[in-house]
Amino acid sequence: MNKTTSKFKSTCSYCGVGCGIEVQKSLKGEIKVTGDENYPVNKGMLCSKGMNLNYVVSDTKDRLLYPQMRWSKNHPLKRVDWDTAFTRATAVFRSIIQKFGPDSVGMYVSGQCLTEEYYIANKLTKGFFGTNNIDTNSRLCMSSAVVGYKKTIGDDAVPICYDDIELADTFFITGANPAWCHPILFRRIEKHKEENPNVKIIVVDPRKTQTCSSADLHLQLKPGTDAQLHFAIGRHLIETGNIAVDFIEKHVSGYEAYKEEVFKHSLSEYAEICGLPEGDIKLAAQWISESKGFLTMWTMGLNQSAKGTDKNLSLLALNLITGQIGKPGAGPFSLTGQPNAMGGREVGGMANLLAAHRDLMNPDHRAEVADFWGVDAISPNPGYTATRMFEALERGDMKAIWIVCTNPMVSLPDSNLVEKALKKARFVIVQDISGRSDTLQFADLVLPAAGWLEKEGTMTNSERRISYLPKVVDAPGEALPDLEIFLRFARKMGYHGFNQKNAEEVFIEYTQMTKGTKIDIDGLDYQTIQKHRSIQWPYLKDKDKGTERLFTDFKFYTEDSKAHLHTSINTNDSDALTSEYPLVLTTGRIRDHWHTMTRTGKVNRLNTHIEKPYLEIHPADADARNISEGDIVQISNGRGNVRVEAQITDKIREGVVFLPMHWGKILEHSYARTNNLTSRILDPISGEPDFKYAAVQVEKY
Ligand code: SF4
Repeated sequence: MNKTTSKFKSTCSYCGVGCGIEVQKSLKGEIKVTGDENYPVNKGMLCSKGMNLNYVVSDTKDRLLYPQMRWSKNHPLKRVDWDTAFTRATAVFRSIIQKFGPDSVGMYVSGQCLTEEYYIANKLTKGFFGTNNIDTNSRLCMSSAVVGYKKTIGDDAVPICYDDIELADTFFITGANPAWCHPILFRRIEKHKEENPNVKIIVVDPRKTQTCSSADLHLQLKPGTDAQLHFAIGRHLIETGNIAVDFIEKHVSGYEAYKEEVFKHSLSEYAEICGLPEGDIKLAAQWISESKGFLTMWTMGLNQSAKGTDKNLSLLALNLITGQIGKPGAGPFSLTGQPNAMGGREVGGMANLLAAHRDLMNPDHRAEVADFWGVDAISPNPGYTATRMFEALERGDMKAIWIVCTNPMVSLPDSNLVEKALKKARFVIVQDISGRSDTLQFADLVLPAAGWLEKEGTMTNSERRISYLPKVVDAPGEALPDLEIFLRFARKMGYHGFNQKNAEEVFIEYTQMTKGTKIDIDGLDYQTIQKHRSIQWPYLKDKDKGTERLFTDFKFYTEDSKAHLHTSINTNDSDALTSEYPLVLTTGRIRDHWHTMTRTGKVNRLNTHIEKPYLEIHPADADARNISEGDIVQISNGRGNVRVEAQITDKIREGVVFLPMHWGKILEHSYARTNNLTSRILDPISGEPDFKYAAVQVEKY
């Protein structure tokens, strides 16, 4: 190592792949990042977002540097010191809780929070405010997958490890564009296929995305018909005798009901419903049946749906009826969107969860957690989930909200309702690193937070891999780590149990809560994680090792130890298409931007790939509306409108249009906040919004 630089090992702070990064800091404080060649996830590779993280750390010009406060809605925000900020925050929260009860306040946090921050925010809210009104933007991405896992295998436990990629021979990638959104995992799939041309890749998506460039079969289905496609494949596998009869008999329950359900339609009826050639469905089923290692991979295309739970359950069924789970190269593999959505769920970071995958609705679990935290009880009242929290603010049922590391003004569905809710709230705290967040305009109190490399803690990636992130540089101005902000606030409120001296003490406290659970990491500390570089839960303390793959004994985490097949189709439908709004709007990410661009938007290199928002529209739909390439078009429905340039392409299915989710600001000629158009229809079980299906009209502007 050069004496003028120091080296650190960290993890990328963008997507759930969780790539290992080597950070070099020069004596002048300049930061360089490279992929960690010895890290098992990425083996030295980084995608465009990860390799440009140094610019985000070094560029502090739009960072929030000092606490700011306003005394009333009519006054401007003014700089204050931390003591004034905490005095005001505690006084307002105390007074609102006393006057209106604990359920009148809430926290909205983020899958980008570190595990320790998530844990303490939950302890503060559920244990001491006395409300379960804490939810996370992970509700918007993975909650349907969580329900699917819990109902099927008994816990939110991703069975696979990334090394299963190189051991699989058939990939069913659905509702995901990993080539752009999980690029390093996709590079591994591409390389595996290059080296093994017999490997089959099936991609399911209404759009022909970059991921299709490697596909052997693209099933360009009608939006919203995923569960029917899974049933069709299930039916064909059963009909052709290509199911794992012995495995089902020993390890799966619910098969007869499943079979009855999938046989309710013929294959040609399913083909008609999904808008796919029957032969393509048969071909997909044939490749699955011939597979020695079958991996299903999915993300928002299935999860962000009014039928997200059904789509997950029906997909998981394909792994179960073929016995493709619990063995190398096989299993269901949910691609997590955010870097620490998994860690957040582990510590109970959702309105319906408690720490260590305990369930809020279970009285024994509530008693265990209350006992551990030394409080009388955890409230049995379900907390508001993400969208419901903002509806409660708009109705006036909630009075105050503390928003941490997320920008709901752009990222939540039905943005106009969010705007009304934040205007109506009596008190809004926005805790963030960035002055670019659109939500700041509604803040009564702004708390500047430390960002990546400016604080320490842990995260868990999509394969249950816990990694340690060190502090490398000081945060700019007076910004503080989120954890320190929570701890200081809690102490000022007079709550006990918040005297931890550092992040590791919080981490160790959490590990104690996992003892004896399925996600047991008792015995882990920062030194042990660093010794291993990273470790997959559960941690086997006596062997000092993690667990790469779950369910290798086919004993699932259900009461009868069997995996459960489910058949229900819920009736909570998406927006209805009408003659006024005849097109389906679907939304998603682009390659080089992240969420609402508060970080990636300031990196010039990342702005060059796609410079501005656009609408993908099929040539037939464009012709019918006299729209030419590059025209400004207005996309509208009863909730709002968006104006962007048209991009005419036959890569999108006729009748479907696509908008990227990232932009929020008014740009030249355009008003690009996609969520003006999306609905607050939720999956009835997971509470995940229906981002992938909104009825709209498009016209030349
Ligand atoms: Fe970061 Fe994800 Fe890219 Fe890896 S794939 S470098 S974790 S954004």
